[in-house]
Amino acid sequence: MPKGILVVLEQYNGELRKVSLELLSEGRRLADMAGLDLTGVLLGQGVKDLAPVAASYGADKVVVVDDAALKDYTTGAYTSVLNRVIRDEDPEVVVMGNTGIGRDLAPRLAQRLGVGCASDCVAVAVDSNYKLRFKRPIYAGKAYAEMATEARPILATIRPNSFSVAAPNSDRQAEVVEVAASIDAADLKAIVKEVIRQASSRPELTDANVIVSGGRAMKNSENFKILEDLADAIGAAVGASRAAVDSGYREYKFQVGQTGKTVSPTLYIACGISGAIQHLAGMGSSKVIVAINKDPEANIFTVADYGIVGDLFEIVPLLTEEFKKQ
Ligand code: FAD
Repeated sequence: MPKGILVVLEQYNGELRKVSLELLSEGRRLADMAGLDLTGVLLGQGVKDLAPVAASYGADKVVVVDDAALKDYTTGAYTSVLNRVIRDEDPEVVVMGNTGIGRDLAPRLAQRLGVGCASDCVAVAVDSNYKLRFKRPIYAGKAYAEMATEARPILATIRPNSFSVAAPNSDRQAEVVEVAASIDAADLKAIVKEVIRQASSRPELTDANVIVSGGRAMKNSENFKILEDLADAIGAAVGASRAAVDSGYREYKFQVGQTGKTVSPTLYIACGISGAIQHLAGMGSSKVIVAINKDPEANIFTVADYGIVGDLFEIVPLLTEEFKKQ
């Protein structure tokens, strides 16, 4: 018998990533609604201590695969282990974050398991037969498609910030099962020798609750300092349009949009960004959008909840000053 919902958990620096907490929280809600169990899978080295955290966010069971070969993510090792864990657990649904790891892993797993994959989903519904259906934006966010498959399990990646994180309950207990990695030698095609991380006090773009983004109007990389000051005053990440990235004002990893990162923060502040469809594709699902643009006809105002018509070089420092007073 299929057992329920399986969440592939991501951890970073000894903590579960926010997207994993979102998936556990929503998974718990759906599992209760559809009468299913919720299992979390933790891969890595020294990750067992995170099992109670997964339990506190709703997992009934946590499968822990702790091995030096899983310390850093590699496609082959993670695919090999998860392929086996999923076959053993036999869930109805497998979900993971639509992160760099999730986007790499999900299609490979789908191929190994011989099932379909719904990617970059933003909502999940339970139909009248208690089957889960996944909703994802299509045509650069102009429409939504609902995905369901006959083959089980259905595999889906979920856009970070699509669901809220429930309050943890430290009294919740989960069955913790430790499984040996037993990675197929044929899957160990790459090993990570060194990870070089850039130190930053700002949140990761795809995890951030608040994002301040700048466009071509910033004119140069130095001017991004005013966006950084605003971001630091409100604990935000800094993003950029493709025009700003192509002009060399910001590195590609900060690009938001169809060919950059997809973000879904609670608050997105677009500064000097016209609102091209390709930019909207990456941030259109933000909960509240604020646009600052000197052109009252700019397309960004068609999606903005709050619009400020004016010169960003005057408005942004004023906002920073006000936020610093709070
Ligand atoms: P512009 O369109 O030039 O807009 C600048 C805006 O700043 C204008 O609205 C102007 O009124 C305003 N402005 C100027 N000065 C000021 C000021 N002082 N104060 C306030 N406002 C001011 N774009 C992305 O962003 N992300 C993507 O991932 C992406 N992928 C793409 C993929 C493809 C296949 C293609 C064809 C395009 C893609 N683009 C992407 C590019 C996209 O079409 C736009 O060209 C780009 O988003 C424009 O960036 P922008 O809004 O910063 O610049």
